[in-house]
Amino acid sequence: MGYPIQLVGLEGRRVLLAGGGPVAAEKIVPLILAGANVHLVTPEVSAEMEEWLPKVWRFDRRPVTDDDVAGAKVVVGATDDLAVNARLVEVARGLGILAQAADDKPNCDFYSPAVVRRGPVIMTISTDGGSPMLAGQLRRALEAAVPRSVTEVSELLVRLRERGMKGLANRGRMLRALFDPTITRLVDQGDTEAAADRLEELFNEEDEPFEPGTVAIVGAGPGSRQLLTLRALDRIQRADVILHDALVEEEVLRLALPGTEIVDVGRRSQALLPDETPADAQRIPLMVSYAGEGKRVVRLHGGDPFVFGRGGEEVEALRAAGIPHEVVPGVSSVLATGAAVGTPLTRRGVARGFTVRTGHDTEGLRRGELSQQEETVVVLMGLAAVEEVLMHLVAEGRAPDTPALAVSGASRPDQQSVCGTLATLAAEIRAAELPAPATLIIGEVARGTLELAQASAGHKSESDDATVGVA
Ligand code: SAH
Repeated sequence: MGYPIQLVGLEGRRVLLAGGGPVAAEKIVPLILAGANVHLVTPEVSAEMEEWLPKVWRFDRRPVTDDDVAGAKVVVGATDDLAVNARLVEVARGLGILAQAADDKPNCDFYSPAVVRRGPVIMTISTDGGSPMLAGQLRRALEAAVPRSVTEVSELLVRLRERGMKGLANRGRMLRALFDPTITRLVDQGDTEAAADRLEELFNEEDEPFEPGTVAIVGAGPGSRQLLTLRALDRIQRADVILHDALVEEEVLRLALPGTEIVDVGRRSQALLPDETPADAQRIPLMVSYAGEGKRVVRLHGGDPFVFGRGGEEVEALRAAGIPHEVVPGVSSVLATGAAVGTPLTRRGVARGFTVRTGHDTEGLRRGELSQQEETVVVLMGLAAVEEVLMHLVAEGRAPDTPALAVSGASRPDQQSVCGTLATLAAEIRAAELPAPATLIIGEVARGTLELAQASAGHKSESDDATVGVA
């Protein structure tokens, strides 16, 4: 087993490095960072190595010789000639000097790790001499992943410890501090004092209760993880098990910490199907049994749990089973849809309120109250029966030229929308082959969005024959 060279004190000591190619350039980084006096000997210098020349202690542009070894603390053979490297190691070992031949495991007394340095924080990656190239790749990945603020956060932590602050070992808090956007921003602005205050606040914050054996019924929003609430994120990251709908996006599930059990309980889920009972009937017993095992359970719904999400039945069942639970609201697609296309649901002088309906229950749409012109209608699950849904609204007295729009995948990268009127929207949706999940907004509030779409469609059809609304 090899050890990172940082464990050897190299500051101000002479280190012989033979070679000027990319491998030698990879080797020189930790040596320079460790403060070694690098004696570089090589007849040729690659572009990668060129950058380091101002930092070397002595540079001899010639082939390396046995005589260069004497007096060095450490010797690194990284020329492109294996025999030359091995010879240097042999000479060095004869003199009791630690030595290493690049990519030649038997001829290594130590391995040089890849290094990421952020102020006082040094991260080294060693592959036990197995693959310097892999170590290099990992180094670049770490450089990208570790926030710039790690330097300041580590300095602030030292200060807090000196002031007798407790709880600094808390792993969750530490990582949260590292990725806290407020701290990163304050550090970027150079306001270290405010960053320190925020850090202290973060460590003092009491966790909200989420005990083992409890269930959090959580709304995950319409898709983008940017639309999660902070409380939803907290529960997702503290869960032992997450039971999620098909509508919950992968990017949200990826926020769960490693080791979290993630179970798809969507209607077509494989996890539920082996049993002949319908998925809906299995979901609640599954949730109850996980909680009974003492797990922290998150039941993750698309949008909001209480908007066409069966959150109501779940709360009732948990109450009946005596299982402690809470509900965390989410951004419903009802709201995300309007936001996605800039259509308000209410507007002074245009719409006094809005009604949310499901397209699965078109009977509900026949009731007289929906005929009011000043009421916006939002329809979820409205794609399959869109013709029927729109027809009912006309039959109820809504003008056929009432603006109507449909948004699919609101807030997701594949978000798509189609505009029309009560008379035309169904055909527009079919023509565009708009995919589920989609939500409809019908009412005068959509007129602005419709006119914009028509203007841009008209503009487009001058060059190509576009007929369908906006994308
Ligand atoms: N509880 C969810 C609704 C579940 S019913 C919520 O509050 O949003 C499923 C319906 O939600 C879909 O048929 C569709 O109408 C709507 N929906 C879910 N995600 C959506 C999205 N990203 N964009 C548009 N509609 C969406």
